[in-house]
Amino acid sequence: MLIERPWMRWPASLLVFAGATWLNLHLQPQLGDRAPLLPYFPALVIVGLSCGFGPAFALLCASCLAILYFWIPPVGTLFPVESVSNVALIALFFCAGLLIAAVAATAGSLVQKDRRSRQRLRLALAAGRMVTWDWDIEQRHPSTTGDATAIFGRRIRSMEDILQALSADDAATFRQRYAYALDSGGRFSQIAAIVRPDDGQTVWTQIDGYVATDSKGRAAHAYGVLVDVTPQQEALRASQAAEERFQLALESAKVMAWECDEQARYTWAVNVPMGISREQVIGAEVGSVAGQPTFAAAVLDAVRSGQPVTLDQRASHGGRDYQLLTSIRPIQDADGQVRRLLGATVDVTELAAVQQQLLLESQRKDTFLATLAHELRNPMAPIRYAVSVLQHTADEGARHRAVEIIGRQSAHMARLLDDLLDMSRITRNDVALQRQVIDLRTVVKQALEAVEPVYVEKRHRISLSMPPRPVPVEGDPTRLQQVLGNLLDNAAKYSPVPGEVLVHLAVDAGHAKVTVTDRGIGIAKDLLSRVFELFTRLDSSSAAPVGLGIGLAVSRQLIQLHGGTVSVESEGRDRGSRFIVCLPLAEGGVGALPGASTGPASGQDDHEDGSAGNTCVLIVDDNEDGANTLAEVLREARFRTAVAYTGEDALTAFERLHPRVVLLDIGLPDLSGNEVARRLRGRARDELVLVAVTGWGQEADRAATAAAGFDAHVVKPVDATEIEQLIRRLLREPASSAALGTG
Ligand code: ADP
Repeated sequence: MLIERPWMRWPASLLVFAGATWLNLHLQPQLGDRAPLLPYFPALVIVGLSCGFGPAFALLCASCLAILYFWIPPVGTLFPVESVSNVALIALFFCAGLLIAAVAATAGSLVQKDRRSRQRLRLALAAGRMVTWDWDIEQRHPSTTGDATAIFGRRIRSMEDILQALSADDAATFRQRYAYALDSGGRFSQIAAIVRPDDGQTVWTQIDGYVATDSKGRAAHAYGVLVDVTPQQEALRASQAAEERFQLALESAKVMAWECDEQARYTWAVNVPMGISREQVIGAEVGSVAGQPTFAAAVLDAVRSGQPVTLDQRASHGGRDYQLLTSIRPIQDADGQVRRLLGATVDVTELAAVQQQLLLESQRKDTFLATLAHELRNPMAPIRYAVSVLQHTADEGARHRAVEIIGRQSAHMARLLDDLLDMSRITRNDVALQRQVIDLRTVVKQALEAVEPVYVEKRHRISLSMPPRPVPVEGDPTRLQQVLGNLLDNAAKYSPVPGEVLVHLAVDAGHAKVTVTDRGIGIAKDLLSRVFELFTRLDSSSAAPVGLGIGLAVSRQLIQLHGGTVSVESEGRDRGSRFIVCLPLAEGGVGALPGASTGPASGQDDHEDGSAGNTCVLIVDDNEDGANTLAEVLREARFRTAVAYTGEDALTAFERLHPRVVLLDIGLPDLSGNEVARRLRGRARDELVLVAVTGWGQEADRAATAAAGFDAHVVKPVDATEIEQLIRRLLREPASSAALGTG
């Protein structure tokens, strides 16, 4: 190979020449001067390879002269050469030497180039942290280039070394991809983690390979490269993590990040609000998608001025309105021109609504405090007046009136304070209900009794209608009475004098419904939703009835604690109002009421509820199922029922319950139905209705029952509706209702 420093090549070739001549001078006497050219050929090769063509050519010339001088007769002179054959020999030597010098010099330069390119390759591989691998598939001959030990902490010489360096999963993937490339030819690629055995560090490695095929299309040669891509992978992972954090931050803060060009057209956007997709905004002019007419102008202003801008805008999309807060920052190029703008838009719709709500709450609280002061001051004046009367008057009548005033006004103040306490307990979620199964009718009646003085005073008329049967609900009777009392109070307060209030209690689809209807000042439709809010007084003028705007809010909370609802209906101002309280019926129905009979006792099923006008029907049948089902059906039709399965039991039950109607089977196990009927007729008042319910329907049977005193004869099987209608016909009973007049 070529000597690196060119100036050293000449002395080197001179040395080689001297050496070859010295060797020749010692060698030729042994050889009889027959091979004077011999040592110069290797010398030419050596100098050609290591010193290049110039020194080799010089060596050739010098060799020719040395041969002429030392070995070609006449020895000791260069000229003349006596024999033609010697001239030919020298000429041939020169030509051959020239060829050898040229070839050796070319080979030397090639070797030099190759060495340099190998050096460059090694440098490139080290800089790129790569190892190349080469696999002659037929010869199974592997080779690698590059410092695998430095990069991967292990020697990588063969395909097995690569596979061993990978985890089991990655090795399986590699095998699979390599096998596929072997079958089909072409490239394969994979990123895998290699753990360095020396320090346990993970080296992320990109394995790229290529399988070349021979002329017959068979895989002949695989080669590729292992590249340490750890920095890129780490950067990628870090950027993915940063992206995720960024996205999370944007999403939780409801921020849209965007970029637009100097013509105010979106070029990039993430986390677009209002249900708009990224595709919809990219390329669109800012503000064009969600109806923000001033947006584009503001961006163009920022382009001109180069100054950041903040915008508080309304937007609408998909039929909804939004409040958006936008910050825009123009980005200047090196030449000072704004070509792109960064923006962040925050959806503050909820925040704005909450702010508005807070403002309203605060205003309402202020109004409430003013009202409270007023309401508390109101009773104070008469009390102080009464106190001064007590201090200064000896007149018994005046003193008595003063005491009454103090009593009345302090009771009023106590009510206000109770309301306030309730409100604070409810807002703190600190209300404990004393729940029990109660008959809601009783609560309604008690609430009516409590407000009766007010109604009497104001000459309001109040009507009550409710079912004849108990309405069991699970609740706190005091709290429920408080709610109904509040509704009745309001109805009285907000009705002109004399007014009319209707209270209706009904059972509907597993719920008890109490409706309080007045014909008073009514409520404008747009204000209906507000009446249950705290501190709401729809009319806050001084002429309005006293009130703190707490009662309905407290009522709603109490009813909700009972699992029920309270709602309001009104046709508008001066069209009256209707408040509806809906409570779930107690599980277990009437049977759950304290003191209620839960099943047949000694052959009797007693369902008395004690309400006036409620008809009691005694069903007598030895078929227990038949008797019980008929009783059930009649109970549904709002009759009180009792059941007896023998004639004797029927007589006992009759004594105890005095039913208006007896449905009597004829074939009973002890006494016959006709006999029982005769005895009942003997004991009962005239209005007793006796119906024979029997399987016998012959004329003779009918005649026998008629003779025994039955009012009707029904042949089994009995249709429930028919028998109900028959009873009603026989009783001529109107629908249940009651009315209480206090006016
Ligand atoms: P208040 O103590 O002011 O009556 P409520 O919470 O009971 O407080 O009622 C809130 C507001 O609802 C009342 O100020 C009144 O404007 C309206 N309101 C309540 N009941 C009626 C009703 N029966 N008719 C008309 N307006 C009513």
